[in-house]
Amino acid sequence: MRRLFVILVWILVAQSPASAATQTPRIQRVSFQGRDYVKVSSWAPIAGLTPRWLTPDKELQLQNNKVTLHLSHDSRRIRCNGVWVWLSAPILMRDRDALLPYLDIATTLNPILAPTQTRRPVRLICLDPGHGGDDTGKRQAGRHEKEYTLLLAKELGKLLTRSGYKVVLTRSTDRRVERMDRPLMARQAKADLFISLHYNGADVPSAQGVEVYSLTPAGASSTNAGGEGADHPVCVGNSWNERNMQLAFLMQKALVQRLGREDRGARRARFEVLREATMPAVLIEGAFMSNPSEARWIYSSTERTRLAQAIVDGVKSYEKWIGVTAR
Ligand SMILES: [Zn+2]
Repeated sequence: MRRLFVILVWILVAQSPASAATQTPRIQRVSFQGRDYVKVSSWAPIAGLTPRWLTPDKELQLQNNKVTLHLSHDSRRIRCNGVWVWLSAPILMRDRDALLPYLDIATTLNPILAPTQTRRPVRLICLDPGHGGDDTGKRQAGRHEKEYTLLLAKELGKLLTRSGYKVVLTRSTDRRVERMDRPLMARQAKADLFISLHYNGADVPSAQGVEVYSLTPAGASSTNAGGEGADHPVCVGNSWNERNMQLAFLMQKALVQRLGREDRGARRARFEVLREATMPAVLIEGAFMSNPSEARWIYSSTERTRLAQAIVDGVKSYEKWIGVTAR
């Protein structure tokens, strides 16, 4: 009888006009300058985020118990727990609302805010020291990038092994390995993660800081200097978009916070090694060889160990973020 009463009440409530007003909120999409945007006022409650204007129509903070986002008008970057994350297009603000690119909700923000949880720990990591052999990579005052990416990979391999991970390298000597063969080697080894190691270079010696790249989502434009278009077809690695983004974000966070170096942001690029990866993959640009003070840092074995330790921390915080509690 009591059960029948409950069912009756439920039917009445479900059919009452009041329930129409409390329907599941919907994301409101708007088109602006040919781009698809989402109104943050409609998305924030769904994402469980509380908005607070720091400066009306200029700076907006969105927060839940795990993540704090800072949005700025006309910026292509969003600050996420203190770390820059690049978006596919600029944020727009007007009339006390913010517009976020629709593509970035699914491909950048949801992976960070609501990661799919797993209990499967990372076991085997494929480290990819950039360049090798006649491909020297960047050159600076007689020094070659290929040499320092290999030294970093060896140091990192040692520290990861000490932390209980298994490690394979795409090269352990100074030899040429084709770019497309590198993710293939990771797949053959059945690696759970692929981490490509590089050092940066720029025309201006003042450029400095750390960047972590993950594969550009299908339909978006990259943040590397390549200037490629947004209409690139879907790549093999796009199926890992969620994990790629999480790994890039947490790696960038670990590097910036542990090393205290300039934060150039978690970025997107369609580098061949990322396109072809069949597991979550990132490419780290550890520092600039073209910056005299960063170059000294790259060539120092003590600082290399610090960088390697920060990468280990990045892997561990990635595992924690996606729900791995025991290894
Ligand atoms: Zn390189």
